[in-house]
Amino acid sequence: MGKKKSTFNIKKNENFGEWYSEILSKAEVTDLRYGVKGFVVIQPWGARAIDKMYRIYESALRSTGHDPVIFPAVIPEKNFKRESSHVKGFAPEVFWLEKKQGEDRLALRPTSETAFYEMYSIWIRSYRDLPMKLYQRCNVFRNETKATRPLIRAREFHWIETHNVFATKSEAEAQIQEDISMTNEIMKGIFGVPFLPMKRPEWDKFPGAEYTVGSDSIMPDGRVIQQPSTHLISQHFTKAFNIKYVDEKEKEKFAWLTCYGPCISRILASVISIHGDNKGLVLPYIIAPVQVVIIPMHSETSGEKISKAAEKIRAQFLLANIDVKVDETDKRAGEKFFHWEMKGIPFRIDIGERELENGNVSVYIRDTGKKVVIKLENLVEDIQNLGVEFDARLKSSAQKFFDSKIVDCDSKASVKSALDGGRVARISFCSIDSAGEKCSTYIEKDLMARIMGSRGDLLEKATGKCLFCSKKAKIVVYAGKSY
Ligand SMILES: [Zn+2]
Repeated sequence: MGKKKSTFNIKKNENFGEWYSEILSKAEVTDLRYGVKGFVVIQPWGARAIDKMYRIYESALRSTGHDPVIFPAVIPEKNFKRESSHVKGFAPEVFWLEKKQGEDRLALRPTSETAFYEMYSIWIRSYRDLPMKLYQRCNVFRNETKATRPLIRAREFHWIETHNVFATKSEAEAQIQEDISMTNEIMKGIFGVPFLPMKRPEWDKFPGAEYTVGSDSIMPDGRVIQQPSTHLISQHFTKAFNIKYVDEKEKEKFAWLTCYGPCISRILASVISIHGDNKGLVLPYIIAPVQVVIIPMHSETSGEKISKAAEKIRAQFLLANIDVKVDETDKRAGEKFFHWEMKGIPFRIDIGERELENGNVSVYIRDTGKKVVIKLENLVEDIQNLGVEFDARLKSSAQKFFDSKIVDCDSKASVKSALDGGRVARISFCSIDSAGEKCSTYIEKDLMARIMGSRGDLLEKATGKCLFCSKKAKIVVYAGKSY
């Protein structure tokens, strides 16, 4: 009786939903057994990747003049009520704490504008206090009533929120572009998750914003997932919270606000979904919790020398800040290979007697499934170079997939066939101001999809007529089915 080899063998492109749930659990990224809808335990394998992602994002924020801050997780109801569209937009999603006698009712933060702004109205006095650029790394809570899915649609998520204050609208708008560039440099450039920066239609902007630029990436099943959004906050907010400064000429003025929210746990969902394959996770080298696993291949005669060599290599990697693990468990080699492949470790090094004699090792590369032989003396440098190439390959195949999912549509029928076929439709449209809302009915009601918006980073010229009202098209919009 042969021992049954456990395999991870669900075809990602045939049943993405099942693949996703299965890989999160098999690779020990999340555990759903906590038993509260929409709340999951993120296990060490997920938490270590998230930690690396946070560090990359936070270091970019520091380098663009943001400072960290830590705010309370509760927000008094009176803060919420100060800006009416915000309270209306968020009210259905707020978790309220039980009211204590003689105290204001408290909300668990769904987002922290109304917490920050309370303090900004105290902290900001003069133009010398501006710009003020602060961020916090925290969890936020939203009472999601629809079906939840770990890391994708949850009631608690782990993000960074920035809340910036400027003297002028043009500085605030420059910040919006800086935020879009940051999403581009980090989410797409480092994590390999391509996206479209989308200026949201008037009917789909952040409650209390003048406008919102979201970023939409595409999952393997063709569904659109919203990633970091940046918002130019309307002056209703500034006025509601009385955020004023005195300018150089001693004149009192209302400030301008922006906020930006990269949700790290949700970006991890995209990273896992986009790069993973039928064998399991494929994690970018730069965020993999373990970047190299070493498998000592002991023989009956090899004694301790293999373990010693493995330990020596481990020490070299650690010195170079490469996360490494030596697998000395008593499992069979085949089981070890399978396990670490499923966990998505970029490189596996097998060391046996022959390798030691020859002074080189063979490196198994997770995404291509190929092996390369490298000299022991160049090991650290070669792995670092292979890591850069590894991430470049993931990025380029993700981009190819993304580009293949966007199709130009010039009729209602072609929009329907694109959306039903798991693609994003690019359409000439009349307007994303409130005047265009009725033209979104076919897409949003009949096709159960949504107008994602128009490019937020550049102007795409429309030609011809709006597909829905036959007025002259003024703008190019994208539509897709979303999570
Ligand atoms: Zn129209």
